[in-house]
Amino acid sequence: MNNQVHPNSVPVGLQSELTCLRQLSARVGSDPLLVQASNGNTSIKLEGVLWIKGSGKWLAQANQEEMFIPVDLAEAKGAVERGGEIPQLRISRNPMRPSIETAMHAVLPHRVVIHVHSINTIAWAIRLDALDELAARLRGLHWEWIPYAESGIPLAREIEMAVARARDTNVFILANHGLVVCGRDCSATEQLLCEVERRLVIPPRPFPEPDTTLLENISRSSGLQNPDFDSLHALGTDNTSLKILKGGMLYPCQAIFLSEVLILPPTIVASRLKSHLTAGERPPSVVVVERCGVMLHENITNAERANLIGLIEVIRRTKESAHLRYLSREEVEKLLNAGGRGYKDEAEMDAKANSATSATFSEEREPEYNRNTCLS
Ligand SMILES: [Zn+2]
Repeated sequence: MNNQVHPNSVPVGLQSELTCLRQLSARVGSDPLLVQASNGNTSIKLEGVLWIKGSGKWLAQANQEEMFIPVDLAEAKGAVERGGEIPQLRISRNPMRPSIETAMHAVLPHRVVIHVHSINTIAWAIRLDALDELAARLRGLHWEWIPYAESGIPLAREIEMAVARARDTNVFILANHGLVVCGRDCSATEQLLCEVERRLVIPPRPFPEPDTTLLENISRSSGLQNPDFDSLHALGTDNTSLKILKGGMLYPCQAIFLSEVLILPPTIVASRLKSHLTAGERPPSVVVVERCGVMLHENITNAERANLIGLIEVIRRTKESAHLRYLSREEVEKLLNAGGRGYKDEAEMDAKANSATSATFSEEREPEYNRNTCLS
């Protein structure tokens, strides 16, 4: 096969399919309940070529910039079998690399694949009783549960096994991760996504109002800012949300983008606050003041902000009584330290900085900054 492909050189009939994929991707990527920042990816298989989103690209921008990369499908499958890197077809002067989840798209037999970090799906997929709850809601659909696995080859292997168990499967619930839906074309796949979302919808829990007076005082003395997205305050004002946050990392994007959330007591005094904010190499992007609300550092990145909104929406859909499966320390370390390709690359494409475990502050206990600079 000619290994030089450009979107403009694709035959007209296939061009229209790529256009459908771009439009679908932009719609899906613009819904914060489905995609946050550069996560989520879509693909279509056209005449032996897998067109897949480039690493670090935001699906929401799919109509504005070229973000789909051609990958030889047979070569990609061979690479997955060997456990190696997936080579992209050469596009002159194109520095993009295929998404880290390309292996999963390659092994799926369907023409169109949509992978999203659906808030509603994640809210189920972090629960220890997820299988029972999902079985009741997805009855009649061809769905499979995929145990947590790292993106890349390990996740592709789990998907392959699920497809081998049941060829008809076109909905995959990824434990502690998200949702994959597949179909013969963009329209059918998008409809299936809507159907799964409809069945898995969870109303968010209301939360008490933030203490704006106290937050303004903190803002004056610290430079931290009141967020422009009200729901974020739930992390501070809603006891259940705070408790879930303190439990650890629920899914990879939280571990990568939001592992330095600083939790403070409402009695924090300005002088002590300042020293804690400047204690690390980089000030925390997110500060939760218990029973008061949330403050953001002015340097928070768009990716951190989008993922923070996603996190609070997952948490607001999680009951206090739910038994949750948090990522293990080993799983979090793998995400943050894995060499070669991984989530890390996508995080870097977003100009994301350092990470580690969530830091909780109390008057008795100093903040824990366990910074991991591997992402800087
Ligand atoms: Zn993903």
